Amino acid sequence: MTVSEVRKKYLEFFKSKGHTIVPSSLLVPENDPTTLFTGSGMQPMVPYLLGEKHPSGRRIADSQKCFRSQDIEEVGDNRHTTFFEMLGNWSLGDYWKEEQLSWVFAFLTSEIGIPKEKLSVTCFEGDEKLGIPRDTESAEIWERLGIPKDHIHFYSAKKNWWSRAGVPENMPVGEPGGADSEIFYEFSGIAHNSAFGERCHPNCDCGRFMEIGNSVFMEYRKIPPAEDGSAPFTKGRIGHSEFEKLPQRNVDFGGGLERITAARNDSSDVFTIDVFAPLIQKLAQLSEKNYTDPAYTGSFRTVAEHLRASVFLIADGASPSNTDQGYFTRRLLRRAVRHLDLLGIGADTLSSLVKPVVSAYADAYPSLLQKSEAITSEIGNEEHKFRKTLDMGLKEFSRMAEKSLDKTLSGANAFMLFSSYGLPIDMIKDLAPEKGLTVDIAGFEKELENHHVISRAGIEKKFKGGLADTSEESLKYHTATHLLHQALRDVLGDEVGQKGSNITPERLRFDFSFGRKMTDDEKKKVEDIVNAKIQAKLPMQRVVMPRAEAEKSGALHFFGEKYSDEVSIYFIGDTLETAYSREFCGGPHVTNTGVLGTFKIQKEEAVSAGVRRIKAVLEK
Ligand SMILES: [Zn+2]
Ligand SMILES: [Zn+2]
Repeated sequence: MTVSEVRKKYLEFFKSKGHTIVPSSLLVPENDPTTLFTGSGMQPMVPYLLGEKHPSGRRIADSQKCFRSQDIEEVGDNRHTTFFEMLGNWSLGDYWKEEQLSWVFAFLTSEIGIPKEKLSVTCFEGDEKLGIPRDTESAEIWERLGIPKDHIHFYSAKKNWWSRAGVPENMPVGEPGGADSEIFYEFSGIAHNSAFGERCHPNCDCGRFMEIGNSVFMEYRKIPPAEDGSAPFTKGRIGHSEFEKLPQRNVDFGGGLERITAARNDSSDVFTIDVFAPLIQKLAQLSEKNYTDPAYTGSFRTVAEHLRASVFLIADGASPSNTDQGYFTRRLLRRAVRHLDLLGIGADTLSSLVKPVVSAYADAYPSLLQKSEAITSEIGNEEHKFRKTLDMGLKEFSRMAEKSLDKTLSGANAFMLFSSYGLPIDMIKDLAPEKGLTVDIAGFEKELENHHVISRAGIEKKFKGGLADTSEESLKYHTATHLLHQALRDVLGDEVGQKGSNITPERLRFDFSFGRKMTDDEKKKVEDIVNAKIQAKLPMQRVVMPRAEAEKSGALHFFGEKYSDEVSIYFIGDTLETAYSREFCGGPHVTNTGVLGTFKIQKEEAVSAGVRRIKAVLEK
């Protein structure tokens, strides 16, 4: 089966069970200050899992594009990818375990034909101390569905508990969580390797089992501990535990589309699925090397994976650059160039690989087709630019190796290769042993910090784990961004449209279409308008309506493809009709502009031809 067939079957199946199918969100989330990339299907759903009403109802399903930068260095084995699609379905206060597990089981077995004997499942073993019971309910459902009893396993919270903060002990008060139940596929012909432990089991890392899906049952919320440690004093507290039941129980399912397809085909190598096959074939042709030759398998996979991820990243707005999301696209493409070289393939190859990716995804993501030419030329330019400095960088690297007395590449030298020659740090780490060197990574990170580069370590620390930052300060900046957007249109005209937005708890940054530098007078006018709207203490309100109607309301919207049939609009003012600002937006926001403080533009500058950028702060 192809990826496209599995995706289609999944969405059709859940549609037949009353789910609304929503389009994938962009890989680069809008207005989310803490997350660089959409890393799971759940991420865009968090506000709704926390209780906000979803515009499309209580049963939602989708196939979400995801990117996980933290997996870059894992790519090369049989299963890790940075880009993947996650099939998801949600019950927002609607169905529960019985329906969820039966449906997922029916999808995997009847719909796409995985034999049930090949499946193993895991359930939460419970935690007596916390008063959270063992999930025998899920286990019984699995058994009734036909999963052999010895394929049903219980694990502790480390494996079978979900919360954004991890195990129950780490959850802050107010945080929701719950037990989950994972599904594993067992590949034919792979024996357990005792290097991974005496006994084989679903969570064993020997490669015999692969996780293909997880149903999370969100039903608890952390509450403060009982003061005397004994008598419960909060209504709803479970025994003496630190948990109470949530007013609304939710189900969240996520399953890796590529992994499910590989399991369906009983191939433990994810790179054998149809979306990678043409890429691997083309690389084999160009290199005259064999994919199954262990000396080259990793490079085949790395080029194919990184190229596919880059196509999707560029399509969603992350063009290669030195900062923010674009930095990862650049890193992927540079690593791909390095592995092309290892395969012995010459220059100007990467851009010729774009077409097979676009064709494999054209039915599900037609916009790739429209953007295909632009993506091809961006990737071509990036390869060309990098190769220009790469040769010089490698020569410099060899010179450094000859000169090094202690066989260490110092932090300063590593930084020089990185900043002057564009060698990604993982390439430097990769090449160092060949030159008999070890790299002073700590020294390198220190150099990065001194030079204020947005380093990978820095980015990943700041954007750890994909937690949405819903801090009060960020909400204020989000609301201020809406005011700024409208004020710019008031002063500069309708030519102004949002091109990008980035919010931290310290400032906002807003990119918009406009052909020239703003005058001081115009900046002052914009500031005055925003501050007048703050002083007017206007309510920020949300409505949900059909898309066509929303478009008629004049609400601002810029990302045509991703909207559902029902959309959420935030407006600033008493009614939608009389509102000062109206935008298609998922929130979250503060509830009144009165709390924002004083709005001040710090900088207005060019980003690219026809696009300007404003940095602004809210002073107390
Ligand atoms: Zn094993
Ligand atoms: Zn917004």
